[in-house]
Amino acid sequence: MLKDKRGIIFGVANKRSIAWATAQALNQAGARLAFTYQGERLKDNVEALTRAEMPDSPLLACDVTKQEEVAETFKQVGAEFGRLDFLIHSIAFAPREALEGDYLKTDRDAFITALEISAYSLTQLARAAAPLMTEGGSIVTMTFHGAEKVYQGYNVMGVAKAALESSVRYLAADLGPQNIRVNAISAGPIQTLSARGVSGLSTMMKHHAERAPLRRNVEASEVGNTAAFLCGSLSSGITGETIYVDCGYNIMGI
Ligand code: NDP
Repeated sequence: MLKDKRGIIFGVANKRSIAWATAQALNQAGARLAFTYQGERLKDNVEALTRAEMPDSPLLACDVTKQEEVAETFKQVGAEFGRLDFLIHSIAFAPREALEGDYLKTDRDAFITALEISAYSLTQLARAAAPLMTEGGSIVTMTFHGAEKVYQGYNVMGVAKAALESSVRYLAADLGPQNIRVNAISAGPIQTLSARGVSGLSTMMKHHAERAPLRRNVEASEVGNTAAFLCGSLSSGITGETIYVDCGYNIMGI
């Protein structure tokens, strides 16, 4: 399905990362992948994960708060791959103290950090990737229902995800004429490193599993499969959307 396609994945921290499940789905579909990791701390993790299944994948250091690392990443991936067909943005961060208690107490630094890393980075990476998407492309990001509804403890991350989902629509409008599509996947809660930073995660997961039409939590692999669909020609008419992969939780009233 994605044979001869080349893409870059931001956000693999470990084997539980949604980005890793996405990489596996893309790899199975035949795509060639490059990975980025935030700092030396994570390099060994990413290397160990990719070595067995995707040994030829370039691994590049890229902290999105450092513009020079972003520029170098796209320079290197351009040299290696010649062009890009897709980009997976699976990055988010907010200081831990902002993810508990009242949203009201969010301070300026926490707000700016959360919005910069979790929302602005999509625009930053899309701008860098677009010139390499010479045959069109697909950009996919990960969001959460907390963008639209209040989840206690999700706080500033909900505000950042709202900005992210809006960015998806503006970017889709800007990049559509170049046949570059931009979409978000709104995943149900999944136990990952980042998710563990959100207070009340287990209550949230239990509630989702009880209330969702499918009566269970979503698997990271299901999110990965949807990302693979969004990167391929089967989704060629879809852009600017937020697609829920949450076992149907979001459709429920009472
Ligand atoms: P992970 O912790 O596995 O992945 C988050 C990634 O973001 C990590 O690789 C992390 O690196 C990276 N990151 C943070 N700051 C930066 C930075 N400055 N530059 C580059 N990378 C950075 O968690 P998930 O897989 O859960 O998260 C992936 C995405 O999915 C996020 O956008 C998240 O909000 C979203 N999502 C998650 C859900 C869940 O329940 N798990 C539900 C819905 C959406 P590092 O570890 O070094 O900080």
